[in-house]
Formats: sequence, C-alpha cells, structure tokens
Amino acid sequence: MTRKEWKIEATRLLAGSDAPALTAQLLLCHVLGIDRVALIAHSEEAVPAEAQAELGTLLERRLSGEPLAYILGSREFYGRDFEVNAHTLIPRPETEHIIEEALAFFDRQGRADAPLRFLDLGTGSGCIAVTLAAERPAWRGTALDFSAGALDTARRNAAAHGTELDFLLADFTRPLPFGEAGFDLIVSNPPYISEEEYAELDAGVRDFEPRSALVPGPDGMEHPRAVAEAARSLLRPGGLFLMEHGWLQGEACRALCAGSAWSHVHTVRDLAGKDRCLYAERA
Ligand code: GLN
Repeated sequence: MTRKEWKIEATRLLAGSDAPALTAQLLLCHVLGIDRVALIAHSEEAVPAEAQAELGTLLERRLSGEPLAYILGSREFYGRDFEVNAHTLIPRPETEHIIEEALAFFDRQGRADAPLRFLDLGTGSGCIAVTLAAERPAWRGTALDFSAGALDTARRNAAAHGTELDFLLADFTRPLPFGEAGFDLIVSNPPYISEEEYAELDAGVRDFEPRSALVPGPDGMEHPRAVAEAARSLLRPGGLFLMEHGWLQGEACRALCAGSAWSHVHTVRDLAGKDRCLYAERA
C-alpha cells in the first residue's frame, strides 16, 4: 500500500470526524517521521508493513473518539509544539488571546525587555507560561498547578523551548506561599465549566481530557473566583490580570473585579465574537 492509498482509505474511514484528510496526513507523518511537505512530494512510496500496523492502531484510537493531540502527543500553541498527555488539557486557540493581550500591554509601556514577574495559575501543559517566557526572555515566570503530572509535563515543555520558569505544586484555592504583592502579570485559564455544561460536552473531551482541568465545581465559577482573589492580593499596583472564561461568564467574571482595587475592567472577545477573557488592571 502506498502512502497515498493509505491516506485515501483512512480519510474515508474518518469521514464524519474533524478534518479527516488532515488527520490521515498527520498520522502518516507521525508514524513515518516525516513532515507534510515530504509526505506530499513522495506520496507514491510504499508504507512498510510495520508502519501500517502502527497506523492501524492509531487510526482505531482516533475512530474511537480520542483527540488527535493525545494520539500524536502534542498540539501547537502560538507557533510552538507542546507535549500533551492525560494529565493536561489540550491547548486551545482561544487561549492565545491571553498571550496577545499580555504582550501588547507591556509593549505599550515599553517593558518588553524589563525583568518583570508573571504567574500562571493552573498551568497544565504550560502553554501560556512557556509561550510568555519564550516570547519575552527577560520576564521571570512562575507556573503553578496542583497536578504533579501536569507540572512535570510543563517542565518538559519549558525545557523543550529553552525557557526557564519556576514551578510550584500548589492549589490556588488555598493561600499561596508568596509573601508580598510582587507580580506584574497574572494569567490563568482555570477550569470554568459547570457540571451541567460538562454533561453536554463532546465525548472526546469528556472521555479523554482531565475532568479536574475543566470542572471546578457545580457552578463553574469556583475557580475563576479563587483566581481573581489571588490576583487581587498578588498583583502590584498597575499590574495586569488576564483570565480565560466561558462565553457566558463575561459579566460574572467582570463582577469579580468590581470595586476600587481594579481599573479598565473589560472582556476580550474571541475570533468567534464570544466573551472569552477577563482583562483587569490592578489599581
Ligand atoms: N493553562 C493550560 C491551558 O490553557 C491548562 C488550563 C487548564 O488545565 N484548565 O491549556
């Protein structure tokens, strides 16, 4: 069987799932250890029997609903590949708004190269913290998670991208071991899905992504609330707080930053025009 024949057959079997032809290509590239350019240029080459067997196994996993990112073991975020596994959420493109807002805020202040300090609450794969550290090498970041498996993954991702971060195994719903208000930037993509919404999610998400990274409690606001409280006490005056949330949580999240501790509170929309990220400056 040639690469092209395998691709056509796999695409047919994957019909009805997301991007079947692309999935087939990516599986081939993964197993053969080549990139898509090479795959397309040499599509008439035979797929060795061993590779065919492995491809069959991976295709089965995808057909049974496992997200492609877990099968490949990685997902791209802001132009870099991140290792993902059963301990970590798969990075989503919506989360890139946090990166854009953070870079733009400090660029406007001329602090792209300042040794400012940032904190990522619930780092998971580390996609946010590692991206910030890679984009702004002068910044000093701390990545925190309550899952040791996630933190290990974030450590490997930091090393893979040549970034240095401080890692902390801790639960942000409890008091954190930071003395004074010393951070210039606090970012978070906390679990924010209510138990009711969780029941409605795609089976691919429910069956494979860690529930603890998605659901904080019955109403979905338990962790956003804890993150906002931590941000209020740990940010320096003039510091920036960015937190992703559900598209129906814009108002509830802005309300978390009501009062004189905050200024410029607003909601950033995603590319689909939905409320996605809380923006607040510490007064
Ligand atoms: N910060 C990670 C991400 O954005 C993990 C988020 C989470 O586990 N809730 O993908």
